[in-house]
Amino acid sequence: MDSTELYRKVLLSISGNKLVEKLSLQYGKKLAGKFIAGDTLAEALAEIEILNSKGIMVTLDHLGEGIKQLSEATGYKEEYIRLVNGIAEGNVNSNVSLKPTQMGLALNKEACYDNIRAVVSQARKHNNFVRIDMEDTPFTQATIDIVLRLHAEGLTNVGTVIQAYLFRTEEDVKQLIEAKVNLRLVKGAYKEPGTVAYQQMSEVIDNYKKIIKMHLDGGVYTAIASHDDRIIHWVKEYAAKNGISKDAFEFQMLYGLRMNDQEQLAKEGFRIRCYMPYGTMWYPYYTRRLAEKPANLWMVVKNMFK
Ligand code: FAD
Repeated sequence: MDSTELYRKVLLSISGNKLVEKLSLQYGKKLAGKFIAGDTLAEALAEIEILNSKGIMVTLDHLGEGIKQLSEATGYKEEYIRLVNGIAEGNVNSNVSLKPTQMGLALNKEACYDNIRAVVSQARKHNNFVRIDMEDTPFTQATIDIVLRLHAEGLTNVGTVIQAYLFRTEEDVKQLIEAKVNLRLVKGAYKEPGTVAYQQMSEVIDNYKKIIKMHLDGGVYTAIASHDDRIIHWVKEYAAKNGISKDAFEFQMLYGLRMNDQEQLAKEGFRIRCYMPYGTMWYPYYTRRLAEKPANLWMVVKNMFK
């Protein structure tokens, strides 16, 4: 295991520690602000307008995951319906991303399905798209099932995310491409054991390129969500060499990371979408960002002294 992998594992482990959580909640809000557009939908919509004016599209995420009661899921569903309506009323270029556990997946699969269905139906009225983020492996199959079920019902304005670090990914991609599901491809952000996931970054990158290639070659619109220059350059080169149009895919990056590069990609004529979280439930999102990259932690430390 190299030092980056070790760092990621340690941080993901301590983020579950109650004392660390308490300290972070007490002191981390200002620091987390770099990665979060605001507490309210109005703040997020104002920020979307700024990014849109730079040629950057957005996917808006109302923070929340791992809920304890179904009533919380109902609240999130309602917030997402407000959000989808707000995007339409504000006439901004943004779709939405939501987490299945936020909609109740860990508590009651059918209720979760109904909640997601309500959001997707509302989005369809506005001609908009809903991305179901992918969480850790207890939820992988259930998430894919929800998306396929919605497509089978004719609600095709919904897609999900595929994580390159999982062994099962290639088979999932084949099935989802066949069903014409719009996918976001990522490396994977959770701590997964060696029984289900590659542990070496080089293996994850090889698998990542493999699934990106499957999409580009198959002419299936895809989102490549990564800050990794090795991946971004590889995609640009592969597309140019194989005559794949810039409209056939989009890059995605997280709010607060590489913002100048996001703008640059837009200037170069690439489609680029920024994943923008807002809301008050920022702790689990924030610790995953810190776990991904020591530089994110240094950025936080530097900001502590500003
Ligand atoms: P890393 O592996 O973190 O970094 C690799 C290299 O990239 C670095 O060595 C450096 O060269 C370069 N780099 C990275 N960050 C920077 C920076 N800030 N400045 C300069 N260079 C940098 N994961 C999930 O499991 N489920 C999801 O639903 C999900 N959705 C996502 C949505 C979006 C839009 C994005 C961008 C990521 C999402 N992820 C999701 C997270 C993803 O799985 C990875 O954990 C995360 O993107 C880190 O991997 P990376 O490829 O970006 O680069």
